[in-house]
Amino acid sequence: MSDKTYAQWQAYCQALVSQQRIEGRAFINGGYRQAQSGRSFDCINPANGEVIAQIAECDEADVEMAVSAARQSFESGVWRNQSPKVRKETLIKLAALMEANQTELAALETLDMGKPISESFHVDVPGSADVIRWHGEAIDKIYDEVAPTQDDVLATITREPIGVVAAITPWNFPLWLACWKIGPALAAGNSVVLKPSEKSSLTAIFLARLASEAGIPDGVFNVVPGFGHTVGKALGLHMQVDCLAFTGSTRTARTLLEYAGQSNMKRVWLEAGGKNPNIIFADCPDLDKAARSAASGCFYNQGEVCVAGTRLLVERSIHDEFVQKVVEASRYFKPGDPLDPATNMGALVDKQHQGNVLQYIQWGQQGGATLALGGEAALDADKGAFVEPTIFTGVNNQMRIAREEIFGPVMAVIPFDDEQQAIQIANDTDYGLGAALWTGNLSRAHKLAKQLRAGSVWINNYNDGDMTVPFGGFKQSGNGRDKSLHALDKYTELKTTWIQL
Ligand code: NAD
Repeated sequence: MSDKTYAQWQAYCQALVSQQRIEGRAFINGGYRQAQSGRSFDCINPANGEVIAQIAECDEADVEMAVSAARQSFESGVWRNQSPKVRKETLIKLAALMEANQTELAALETLDMGKPISESFHVDVPGSADVIRWHGEAIDKIYDEVAPTQDDVLATITREPIGVVAAITPWNFPLWLACWKIGPALAAGNSVVLKPSEKSSLTAIFLARLASEAGIPDGVFNVVPGFGHTVGKALGLHMQVDCLAFTGSTRTARTLLEYAGQSNMKRVWLEAGGKNPNIIFADCPDLDKAARSAASGCFYNQGEVCVAGTRLLVERSIHDEFVQKVVEASRYFKPGDPLDPATNMGALVDKQHQGNVLQYIQWGQQGGATLALGGEAALDADKGAFVEPTIFTGVNNQMRIAREEIFGPVMAVIPFDDEQQAIQIANDTDYGLGAALWTGNLSRAHKLAKQLRAGSVWINNYNDGDMTVPFGGFKQSGNGRDKSLHALDKYTELKTTWIQL
């Protein structure tokens, strides 16, 4: 399937909207349905403020229906008792259907949350299909264990699906992060209720139909759109939900732990926020590459990335030279219409978030930091939620812009004098998602990588990775890991069976 020109994307999306072809209903027990209350809310394109669809505003009653369908499908064994080979083939078919629908999925993602169409089309949709295929392909290649017990006993250690998994996801990579959860959860034989973010529900809703077409049985994969305080809360407190798989803010993550404690001690897996250090030593072998990487590591996806390198720690002896390089590299990111394939920086997810980001920029200035780049709303600021790539220098790690996750295109540059100070500043945060360091000294790289308190550490690159490596956080960035075979740990229970011979 081919890519489109700007005009073609505009025409394609206009047709989707004007012909009211965008599905906004919940998907429960194999079919689309309105919220039982009949309520819906506007889905707004953040690039221009246009209402593009209505999303079912589900609540507790719809959660009840979805969880009950998921529970029944789980107990019936219609999916979990399928052989791993059948589950594999079904998920591979789903991945192929996602690829076959790449254009529509990409258009929905961009219309819904503002990211550039070239990224939705070339990165998010193929990446999401790859996640589903990867977990499908893996599931019939995993063996269980026989314990080394004494001779008169056979003890097996087997993995079993955990039951009903509720996946609660954010808006920044809506399809991709949903697939990080549902890929391993479905591969392992669970039944799933997915609650997408109220700010970006469209691709999850679309995916449900594809899953059904691929052969996922009714009730095994349900999508319940709606708000966190209603749908999310009802899932969190539900006695028939066995596992919560969450990606989102640390604030919500805390609440989910409380829900689990107040209800059935469901397993709670959390991928939460980050305030990630990117450390540049003077002996970095390629400062130009480091500068380009620092810029993309902070401004990709409008800065709405949990592992964005928002704290740039620069050794004082190269500080001015390096900041200049980063500023230049960051000019590459120009806010533009997300439907233009040439655009590399789209709109933020909505006007409210744009306001929050601009507020942080104001706090940065009031706190004494210096604007080295950007700092303003961009483009059609009345209707669209655009913000310029913004760089602050003269930041110290106690400032609000260095401590709190802004989740927008704002970088804080912090100077340091030596290794020890760099590590102290890097680890002086509530978060522990990612960290990078740039050095030509192998021994320093190894030594400091160990000292960085983060789930992913990158040496001489920023945010590289693929499906073979786990992803997740230390400290208040969460627990558990997405991606790789380690993801299965979240969606399976270990059972010991002890057989006296
Ligand atoms: P959020 O916490 O506001 O919302 C995430 C999801 O939780 C949404 O579906 C929302 O409706 C739901 N929710 C909100 N309140 C709830 C409640 N009381 N009970 C149950 N569910 C509730 O986060 P967001 O603004 O959508 O996403 C941005 C955050 O996600 C950032 O903090 C970012 O760092 C984080 N994130 C983390 C990762 C990671 O892998 N660690 C990846 C992407 C985003």
